[in-house]
Amino acid sequence: MNTQEQDRLFALRQLNLLDTSPSESFDRITRMASQLFGLPIAAVSLTDENRQWFKSRVGVDHWEIPRETAPCADVCDSSQILIIPDLLASDRYRNSNLANSGIRFYAGAPLVTREGHTFGAMCVLGTQPREVSEQEQKTLYDLAAMVMAQIELQHAFGRIDPLTGLSNRHQFAEDLQDMERNAPNGQKVALFTEVVDASELSTLHRTMGPAFLDELARVTARCLQQAIDSKSKLYHLGGCQFVHLVDQTSDADLLEEATRLRQALLVLESTRAAPVLLRPTMGIAPFSLSEVTPEDVLRTAHAACLDARQAGKSAGLFSLDLDAHYQRRFTILGGIGPALENMNELYLVFQPRVSLTNGECLGAEALLRWQHPTLGEISPGEFIPLIENTPMAKPLTQWVLRHAIRQAAAWHREGKTLQISVNVSATNLEEEDFAIRLLDEMACMALPSTAIEVELTESALISQGEVAANQLKTLIAAGLRVAIDDFGTGYSSLSYLHEIPAHTVKIDRRFITELGEDARTETLVNSMISMAHDLGYRVVAEGIENDTSYRRLMELGCDEAQGYFIAKPLLPGAFEKWLHDRTV
Ligand code: C2E
Ligand code: MG
Ligand code: MG
Repeated sequence: MNTQEQDRLFALRQLNLLDTSPSESFDRITRMASQLFGLPIAAVSLTDENRQWFKSRVGVDHWEIPRETAPCADVCDSSQILIIPDLLASDRYRNSNLANSGIRFYAGAPLVTREGHTFGAMCVLGTQPREVSEQEQKTLYDLAAMVMAQIELQHAFGRIDPLTGLSNRHQFAEDLQDMERNAPNGQKVALFTEVVDASELSTLHRTMGPAFLDELARVTARCLQQAIDSKSKLYHLGGCQFVHLVDQTSDADLLEEATRLRQALLVLESTRAAPVLLRPTMGIAPFSLSEVTPEDVLRTAHAACLDARQAGKSAGLFSLDLDAHYQRRFTILGGIGPALENMNELYLVFQPRVSLTNGECLGAEALLRWQHPTLGEISPGEFIPLIENTPMAKPLTQWVLRHAIRQAAAWHREGKTLQISVNVSATNLEEEDFAIRLLDEMACMALPSTAIEVELTESALISQGEVAANQLKTLIAAGLRVAIDDFGTGYSSLSYLHEIPAHTVKIDRRFITELGEDARTETLVNSMISMAHDLGYRVVAEGIENDTSYRRLMELGCDEAQGYFIAKPLLPGAFEKWLHDRTV
């Protein structure tokens, strides 16, 4: 088959007209043709690979005839009007199927698209020989043009992507709904293809220009269409993303099919149109027609593709677990804004810090809690890392600081000398006005600067830029204390320790938990404590869960202790009660 014919068939199939039900909008034109010519037979006949298929017909019973020796096929091939006054007088058609069925007269005008493809013919036929006037020829051309206008109207408007000629997302949604009507219990699988990573698209756009990407989408469409089953319809979702449906089979078979398609797409690399490294990745999402929306099908198939890409695989099956994970992240990220406005979702708990010398409570660490309306209680260990790098980090820390300062001020007014430590993310230190805002809040509540300690992780303290360094300087100059949180979990602790402007070292829980179980850990904790002391830091041990660790830390000369063994993080009221019970 030559390329021109290949292109023609590709364009014809994009119309999704073949083998569809009769439609009044076409039948109307066919009836009109039959009446205008006063002939018993008229048809809109489309030339498929090996057959003439009738989209609309008057006076014929069958839907299709072989392409071979069909006059409509000749109209299609030549793109010219064809008039055969008497089939029996024509050498070519005397023995055709048509002549054998009793037809004597044929006239057909080509159905030509704007792009110049001929799809078939608008034809009229009779059982008697006949001549055609010039006026009648014009009429036949007009009828053919009306058919083409109808085809374009029905199938292009808002549903065909003009770039690739493929159906778009809207058509995908409509097709799925049709499929569900026909087979409500049907099971299908969406195969999502992405040829270039979305993040690489902007680079390509920048270096190669938009026309290059258009061409890439076009050649990909062509290549994929050829690789997939010819009965399968390909949709262009935008950019370099495509989707098509296949029947449900085993996971292994689906992965094999995806790999085969990916392999087929790799030939694009060698074509002139795509002199870049393509990384076609396929996402596979099985679904039940009646159970999900078309939107969901696309979302899950895309998710599978993204997960596969992230895992460095060429194809991946949709995973409910992974999806649940991402949905949860999404819910968390979207929920923090409302939580900051809603009075009763976020709250602080306070975990006491006691002196290892005399057992006295010296202060508490303020720890954030979130009672999410649908997810329930979420640990800060989960939501802080998610929010830390978003614009919500600023208002969230502001919320924590404000509430911790208010609580500290309330206790201060009651005569309790407590130092409240607050966790601050590295990104917070990058805010130009961080220190000023914090000091303002404290001044507002008339809280002495020594009543607040800022906890930062080692990495936040080490990798700080100029803005962060200035914030720290301002805080320290105002008299606030700074603690290195989770000490020992970073990797550059030792060499940088003397450069970090901090007052306190909080040895991470994982060392404390192993205390008394592992001699090497003990040696480590011992040297951490003495080194920190030598450098002038106060040492706090986090996560003390039992008497053994508590005693051991006392012996090792650690200054303060924090952990479940002493008290869990407590609500303000419970903290006050705990404090009261401890001192009486
Ligand atoms: P962190 O600052 O190291 O806080 C200590 C964590 O260890 C707290 O977990 C505390 O409940 C837990 N913990 C205390 N004693 C024990 C113990 O004996 N055994 C065990 N297994 N755990 C103990 P939490 O409250 O879940 O907080 C986790 C992390 O989330 C915190 O680690 C901190 O990095 C972060 N975080 C908490 N609140 C805030 C906040 O307001 N702002 C920021 N930026 N981060 C926060
Ligand atoms: Mg902390
Ligand atoms: Mg910690």
